[in-house]
Amino acid sequence: MSPIGHFMSNKPWPGTSDRIGEIRNPATGTVTGQVSLASKADVDAVVETAAKALPGWAATPPAKRATVMFEFRDLLKQHTDELAKLLSAEHGKTLPDAKGEIARGIEVVEFACGIPQLLKGEYSEAVAQNVDSFSVRQPVGVVAGITPFNFPAMVPLWMYPVAIACGNTFVLKPSEKDPSVVMRIAELLAEAGLPEGVFNVVNGDKEAVDALLDNPTVEAVSFVGSTPIGHYIYSRGTANGKRVQALCGAKNHMVIMPDADMDQVVDALIGSAYGSAGERCMAVSVAVPVGEETADRLVEALEPRIRALKIAPYTDPESELGPVISKQSYDKIHNLIADGIEQGANLVVDGRDITLQGYEEGYFIGGCLFDNVTTDMSIYKEEIFGPVLSVVRSGDYDTAVQMINDHEYGNGTAIFTRDGDAARDFWARVRIGMVGVNVPIPVPVAYHSFGGWKRSLFGDHHIHGMEGVRFYTRLKTMTTRWPSGIRTGAEFNFTGGK
Ligand code: NAD
Repeated sequence: MSPIGHFMSNKPWPGTSDRIGEIRNPATGTVTGQVSLASKADVDAVVETAAKALPGWAATPPAKRATVMFEFRDLLKQHTDELAKLLSAEHGKTLPDAKGEIARGIEVVEFACGIPQLLKGEYSEAVAQNVDSFSVRQPVGVVAGITPFNFPAMVPLWMYPVAIACGNTFVLKPSEKDPSVVMRIAELLAEAGLPEGVFNVVNGDKEAVDALLDNPTVEAVSFVGSTPIGHYIYSRGTANGKRVQALCGAKNHMVIMPDADMDQVVDALIGSAYGSAGERCMAVSVAVPVGEETADRLVEALEPRIRALKIAPYTDPESELGPVISKQSYDKIHNLIADGIEQGANLVVDGRDITLQGYEEGYFIGGCLFDNVTTDMSIYKEEIFGPVLSVVRSGDYDTAVQMINDHEYGNGTAIFTRDGDAARDFWARVRIGMVGVNVPIPVPVAYHSFGGWKRSLFGDHHIHGMEGVRFYTRLKTMTTRWPSGIRTGAEFNFTGGK
């Protein structure tokens, strides 16, 4: 088995490091591949390649850069099935889910196709007598992206299509747990006509990340992953003078008002809490029913639906809930469930004792439902990142909003209600970056921007959409005056050589 290497100058490159990581199929627990873990020297070589490609690419007219994006979009569409299989085999999510993530990634490429329009500057005529002022956005330079395991295709696609379309060159460090889909997408970008060195992939772990953060040629870093790592990357990157955006962990609450349509609520919670085994930064992990009666109806309606979830590997077309990513993650989730019981929460549905014939070593956890969770419990405070939903009963609406505002994370939230006034008050007051009204996972479309508040995002800019264009460009403002010369007072006539 030869390890997956890196991608540089539009072709695979093995690198020089002899450190190797294992890739596992989470449904079986078996090792299915290996990945090279780049050394600092490998990273520096890839960054140098990106730096060499920068002047030519930055000077390429935006409309020409956009033609590569149009071609890339078509290739992603044509290869969606193949990419989804590669992705599911290493991540474990169901095939429809994998296709969905690729479709959402393609939307960012479509946004990047409009880059000539997005880069248009501003112009003010006559800011003073005969003085004009205008501004343009220019690429920042070599940009790095560091991405998590849970959306191995989509999260990188949030970054590099916009960065590249803006005229930057890019070095992506994907998750070492599921790197294959990115390697295939890199080939498609080359096939789309992207010049050598504009998009590069370096596989690796902390050593590669640190090398990117310390390399002075890297001007900006986009990170998506957990909060402790994101905070570290933000601190080290900005200390080294880089522009950094770090999108991090989450604990997303859904408030259920007494007037909500309970069928709609339960459908929404099943998809948003248990879809992708709860391994989404926008997963709903806390349900907050308002009033005891609402809470009783909710738990009663949820319980049979959770028990009925079809738990199976992605190869089973009926699968609704696949395995979690790793043994480490499996153990962490089990430990948190044990903590929840010990700290007094009521485990209404216990999904821990799942064994699937032929997949005994896989990392499957069935859907779990906790009731009577309180805000001091670890299952409430921590991001579990597994198929575990906590019900925190709230006596009234204001307490529910306060609870959300007091939580350290601020990625997404939702309210389910038929009352426009409650919905309006909710989105106006809640200290969260993305808010849904009767929409459980309010992920913004590509032409809006994605990002949380509080400890769910470090940095000033959200990702993709116009915020992405701002992050990946520097603003330059010109003030110009042209003294009169050739037009007035100049002598054009031949005067006979006095
Ligand atoms: P992670 O933080 O473990 O890893 C993310 C990246 O950081 C990977 O590329 C990894 O190789 C690298 N990394 C890991 N440890 C490092 C270290 N010590 N030093 C330097 N780099 C390191 O995250 P994960 O487990 O891959 O992904 C799950 C997390 O990502 C969850 O917390 C989830 O909420 C978050 N996430 C957030 C968003 C968002 O938009 N806010 C989106 C998706 C995932």
